[in-house]
Order: sequence, then structure tokens, then C-alpha cells
Amino acid sequence: MSNSYYDMAQICRNGHVITSMAQSSPQSKQKFFSKCGEETVTACDSRGAPIRGYYHVPGVIAPLDYQKPAYCYNCGSPYSWTVKGIEAASELADELEGLTDDEKAQLKNSLPDLVNNSARRTVAEIKFKKIMKKAGSQAIAAMKEILFNVVNETVKKSLFGG
Ligand SMILES: [Zn+2]
Ligand SMILES: [Zn+2]
Repeated sequence: MSNSYYDMAQICRNGHVITSMAQSSPQSKQKFFSKCGEETVTACDSRGAPIRGYYHVPGVIAPLDYQKPAYCYNCGSPYSWTVKGIEAASELADELEGLTDDEKAQLKNSLPDLVNNSARRTVAEIKFKKIMKKAGSQAIAAMKEILFNVVNETVKKSLFGG
């Protein structure tokens, strides 16, 4: 296992993964992502640590189940897709009808906890679902579209089902 290593990922600032193997397959890199036109990055903006990509283990061909990180492992800064996603979801929360100001505030407060793996995530999921249920199915669909590129698979399933 001594030769196992992380490849480098290339991800656009909106959170689309271009490749999880930017180091071993540099030919798949794109300066701007062709599908959304956004600039791509392979490193953290604040200290330049490479974004961890696919984890190579010699002799093991695993399915590509790469999940992009929300925060830099090296300095803890949120990546730009995390920042953008939380901002967009907060703006949407302010626009939602049928919620009290307190519920909107709670909804916004739950967002950072939904993207990290802290112990508060489960509580944030419960709050989020309860408030969004009140906001209605249209609001849920809009929120899903924003958060789809921000939260991980487990949270996606929990918040929006299937
Ligand atoms: Zn993109
Ligand atoms: Zn960093």
C-alpha cells in the first residue's frame, strides 16, 4: 500500500468535476469547463495546496466513485463552489414565501453544516427538511438545483430523496 497516492482533481468554480485524475491524465484537463464556461482550478485559492483527486491504490481498479471536497484539507478554506453554493442558497432562502424570518434565518444557518462532515450535520438536515417542507415543492426543487453541486451524495439523498 506504500505506493498509494492521491491524484489531483480539476474542478470548475461552479463545482463541476472535469477530472479526478488531472495529474495522471493531464490530457483531460480544461482551462475553462466546456459545459458551463467557468474557470477551472486544481489547487486551493488561499495556500495553493492541490485539490485531492482520485485515490490510486496499486493493483486495485476501483470504480470511479470520486466525491469532490467542500473544504481544503490543508488550510480548511471552503472551495469556491462551496462558497458560491452557500451564497446562492442563502439568497434563495430570503426569497422563499410562506416562511417566517426566523425560519429563513434557521435555514441559512443550517447551510454550512450541510456541506461539512461535522456532528451538527444530522441536526442541520432535520431542520432543513422541516423548513423546506413548509416552503413547498417548488422551493425544494430550486434548492435542490443549487445544492446539487455542493453537498455530497449522502446528504443529497437525505435532503431530496433518491
Ligand atoms: Zn462548471
Ligand atoms: Zn487551502
